Amino acid sequence: MTDKNKPLKRETLIAQGLGWMESAHKSLAPGIYPATTYEREPDGSYPTGRIYSRPDNPNYEQPEQLLAALEGGSTALLFSSGMSAGVAVVQALRPGDHMIIPAVMYWGLRDWILSFGNTWGFEVSSVPNGDIAALDQAVRPGKTNLLWMETPATPAWEIDDIAAWAKVAKEAGARLAVDNTVATPLLTNPLKFGADIVMHSATKYLNGHSDVLSGALVTAKMDDFWDRIITNRRTNGTVMGPFEAWLLLRGMRTLHLRVERACSSAMAIAKHFERAKGIRTVLYPGLESHEGHDIAARQMNGGFGGMLSLCIEGGEEAAMAVASRLKIFKRATSLGGVESLVEHRASIEGEGTPCPEDLLRLSIGIESADDLIADIEQALEGRNS
Ligand SMILES: *Cc1c(COP(=O)(O)O)cnc(C)c1O
Repeated sequence: MTDKNKPLKRETLIAQGLGWMESAHKSLAPGIYPATTYEREPDGSYPTGRIYSRPDNPNYEQPEQLLAALEGGSTALLFSSGMSAGVAVVQALRPGDHMIIPAVMYWGLRDWILSFGNTWGFEVSSVPNGDIAALDQAVRPGKTNLLWMETPATPAWEIDDIAAWAKVAKEAGARLAVDNTVATPLLTNPLKFGADIVMHSATKYLNGHSDVLSGALVTAKMDDFWDRIITNRRTNGTVMGPFEAWLLLRGMRTLHLRVERACSSAMAIAKHFERAKGIRTVLYPGLESHEGHDIAARQMNGGFGGMLSLCIEGGEEAAMAVASRLKIFKRATSLGGVESLVEHRASIEGEGTPCPEDLLRLSIGIESADDLIADIEQALEGRNS
């Protein structure tokens, strides 16, 4: 007998996009609403609550509510990019506030925070990844308002303990925001470990097809800070186009299948090359040799993600040569798409990067793991046929 009150499993919510149906046509896929403005009633009221499309659009609601359900949050907001979602959180700070960031996190956002902090008037401290004592030390009681973290952190996949960071945040009266792009809502739900806000570059796994730029925030509670974030999006207009939001939802409906495949292939590749000739080290949280493995095993559920890095013996030149010989892996930035990508991160991040020069970052797609392994093998062997 089925229990009618039993909540549906995530796979079912994802596949059916929460089971929403358009009442006018009973269509299984939603329509696309390009309208930027809505008619008033003769008495001046707006019966649907919609006025104009800079604040929102009907195409945002289904992906926002699906993501909120997957993360276990109260509500979610879509943004025009992962960067604009992250920036909206930081811009909710006030002059004089203090925030703490890890040494290794998405470099574009880190760069923006450090170059923008001075002009906006908030202060920023940076702490080494995985160092809770340093985090404790960096907190300024009464002043620290926001802790930002990312786990696993690109490109060496350092793991930080979300529950430990949340404890520090709570004791300081600060909020914890977590960039959960790499783990996806399937493998980690930061809010369950005490985080306040989750951020995604939905450009990556949530969309999954390398054809939409998008970001999202999910909040545990709707408070003043969240209101400031809503105001930020409404006034800046950092919103998605309706067609892009539609594409995002269409991509999200296979999220679990894509993430499962990426996780199992990444694990197979990591294990295959762990002790291979020509490889200095494999960085993947699923390997017991990885520094953050124990925390990752506690914090990640159902897999260790689809991202790994290979450090190539012989340094930068050797790494570049291996990348140049790959045929199935596409040499491109980004991650989380159906196709596998390779990137020499140090040259992308530029001067001052903490990224090792011999590191190749791999985003594992949904191709055959055997083909991907064979491709890396031929590139390592240097066969150029
Ligand atoms: C890509 C990425 C971002 C930035 O997102 P965009 O959608 O490119 O603006 C932020 N964090 C992580 C971990 C990312 O991979």
